[in-house]
Amino acid sequence: MLDNKTISELYQAFAASPNGFLIVDSGSPSFAVLPYKAYKALRQSQANSSKKINKILVTGGAGYIGSHTVRLLREQNYEVVVLDNLSTGRGEAVGDAKFIEGDFSDRDLLDRVFLEERFDAVMHFAASIKVDESVANPAKYYESNVVGGINLVNAMVKAGVVRLVFSSSAAVYGEPQISPIGEESVCHPTNPYGETKLCFENILKWYSGAYGLSSVSLRYFNAAGALPEAGLGYNRSLDHTHLIPRVLDAALGKTSEIEVFGNDYDTSDGTCIRDYVHVLDLAAAHILALTKLETDSGTHIYNVGTGRGYSVLEIIDEVMEVTGRMIPMKIGARRAGDPGRLVANSQKIQRELGWKPEYDLKSIIQSSWDWQKQ
Ligand code: UDP
Repeated sequence: MLDNKTISELYQAFAASPNGFLIVDSGSPSFAVLPYKAYKALRQSQANSSKKINKILVTGGAGYIGSHTVRLLREQNYEVVVLDNLSTGRGEAVGDAKFIEGDFSDRDLLDRVFLEERFDAVMHFAASIKVDESVANPAKYYESNVVGGINLVNAMVKAGVVRLVFSSSAAVYGEPQISPIGEESVCHPTNPYGETKLCFENILKWYSGAYGLSSVSLRYFNAAGALPEAGLGYNRSLDHTHLIPRVLDAALGKTSEIEVFGNDYDTSDGTCIRDYVHVLDLAAAHILALTKLETDSGTHIYNVGTGRGYSVLEIIDEVMEVTGRMIPMKIGARRAGDPGRLVANSQKIQRELGWKPEYDLKSIIQSSWDWQKQ
């Protein structure tokens, strides 16, 4: 028991250092005195960091990659709560997961959700994702991808939830110096979208050291494909920018032709090369990332791509092959900010997590075609 004098001295010390302080004996610290809330969160995070993961918060779980991952999580009997503001997602895509409509700019909502549900981990998909929009309106991207992300991790730390899988992007690399690109390559994003993803990766690194938050950032290459039989795919009314949905629109006659953005790149046929990875392979990478966090703390980064690149013309050829339709095309100017070649070196995730892409380009295009026709 402490006497009244000691207690009053402690109160005074707390008034001067509200985040806690050390009691130093003969030059070395012997006790840390913490506010009770911080002590509780620390105990909770210690307990959580060694606990098997069962209950997961999925932000953006009604969106394209999020909804496929939610389905896989549910198939594997994880308990899932989706938080999504439905700005681009579809409520029906969350299946039988619990759904909360809301935004992580709402800090009170986040605190409430973390208090009411006791999560073992978080998957953070929710983000603004359009490169050209990010150049025109960077404020929106800093707000949702950085400020929103900080709100989320702060709520996690407060609640003692210390494991996070984050949807990062190959856009963090910018114009690659070497191809295929490994995780150790320098990151020089060429647009605010990539910049905000890199910024949040860095926040996670610092939060790991200071607050014990462990994370896996998955740098996606070109997510594509769908699961039409489960009613899952990209948002057909919104996705008017990506290559495969656009080529399929031309195949369906919804648009008169596909414009190829530049054929003067330093590639075999002069058009841009990308690494297209099936959304179900991406979903599988998320589950493996969760498993990693059950045994390993710290900050981890993995590329998720197949290691095989296809040019724009090869994609158009494959779409003609799968759909059996002629696709009118014209060669246009380069699109600003497009690197000529973006192909993943994904050996690290294959080696460390045992991930292996199961779907090839044909199944990516076939599933997208079935989805787009529906
Ligand atoms: N692209 C194109 N015509 C289009 C849409 C895209 O030639 O109508 C090209 C684009 O320049 C890029 C590739 O297709 O080289 C993939 O673009 P997408 O927008 O699908 O993904 P990104 O690589 O930009 O994330």
